[in-house]
Amino acid sequence: MPAFDVHDHRHALKQLRDTGDTGLWANRDGIPCPACGAPFARVFTTREEATRIPANDGSRFCLVRDDDAVHLFRH
Ligand SMILES: [Zn+2]
Repeated sequence: MPAFDVHDHRHALKQLRDTGDTGLWANRDGIPCPACGAPFARVFTTREEATRIPANDGSRFCLVRDDDAVHLFRH
């Protein structure tokens, strides 16, 4: 399973929002999406059991789940 840890990419991500259990980051350096390999625009990470996804412009997105969190990559 592809893993993703924002801390591994901290230098290339700009944090836009952080609630403790959720975080929203902008991809500043063309990091590839672990699900499809294409660079993503933003990644939303949540550790909550249920999360309301922020509104987006209809862009396609990928989902990656690991032991700790779910990551939503918006392209
Ligand atoms: Zn993707």
